[in-house]
Parts: sequence; structure tokens; C-alpha cells
Amino acid sequence: MLKIFYPWEYAPSVFVIDYGKIFAKGYRAVIFDIDMTLVPHGYDATPEVEKLFETVHATGLKTILLTNNDEERVKSFIKNIDTEYVCDAEKPNRDGYLKALEILHVSKDKAIYIGDQIFTDIYGANKVGIANILVKYVTAHEEKNIGIRRNLENIILKFYARSRLYRNRLGDIYLTEGAIV
Ligand SMILES: [Mg+2]
Repeated sequence: MLKIFYPWEYAPSVFVIDYGKIFAKGYRAVIFDIDMTLVPHGYDATPEVEKLFETVHATGLKTILLTNNDEERVKSFIKNIDTEYVCDAEKPNRDGYLKALEILHVSKDKAIYIGDQIFTDIYGANKVGIANILVKYVTAHEEKNIGIRRNLENIILKFYARSRLYRNRLGDIYLTEGAIV
């Protein structure tokens, strides 16, 4: 029952992933969430993020941003990033994911989704059948009250951590560091 919420992998951050290994596993495109995946909520892209996209593209992977945020936010974010995007995606609805695949010209088994929220990002990717990586959410400052949604995510992650069948389904995807769970 919970497995529709289980990510294929749970990574500490987008920056510890070896995108060359993702390409070597047969994937040809990465679909990124923006807020709290690449930067804190509402923040512009940092030089580190801009470099990340160059690194990803250098492996041969195509990229697209899939966000529930609006076009104004995305346009400001991609000032120095050469990538496609789908805004107002209404994740976890399937439509945004399917539109992203269409723009990328890749089938669902050749794309990998990376996001920070189980109930939108991961749930939506699993519904469509796209491999996915949950990353630890990025915040500007430590949140004292993390809210009901994050507490529910933590409960699911506890079950996920015990599930040998569903954890680490992508194998080794890391530069050096290991997975959180
Ligand atoms: Mg997010």
C-alpha cells in the first residue's frame, strides 16, 4: 500500500549524484523539481546549481524542470541555465510528467525524476512509472516546526528504510557519499 510513495532511491542531495552513472544505466533525461530540491523555496539558482546543469548536460543527459510554481518563477530561475521546463504542473497529477516526457522526446523508462516531496514528486512519478530519486529537502534555515506533511513523509521513510525490495533500486548512483537509508 505504501509502495506507491516509495522513491527508487533516497539521496542526501542533488550534488552527490554521479550523473554519468545515471546515463550509463540507460537513462537519457533528468526531470528536476526546483523548490527545496535544487534551492530553498523561492530562491534563484546559485552558481553551484548552474554548474550542476552543465555537468548533467556534459554526460549526455537532457534536462527539464517540472514545477507546480508559475512561469515567472521558472524564468527567473533559468536565467543562466539552458533547460526546458513545465510550470504550473499540478503534481502529483500525471499530465505534467507526460508533457515533460513529450518535450524531452524520451519514453518513461528513459527518464529519471528528482524531487524533495513524497506526496507530490515521488507519488506522481510512481503513478506514471518514471524512476525517481527523493532528495533531502533544501532549506535556508532549520525549520523548528516541519509540519504534518513532513512528519508523514518521515513515517513512510521509516518503512521504506526497512524495505530491501524497494530501497536502492537504482544501484550505485553516487559520486562518493552513500545514501541516507
Ligand atoms: Mg519541491
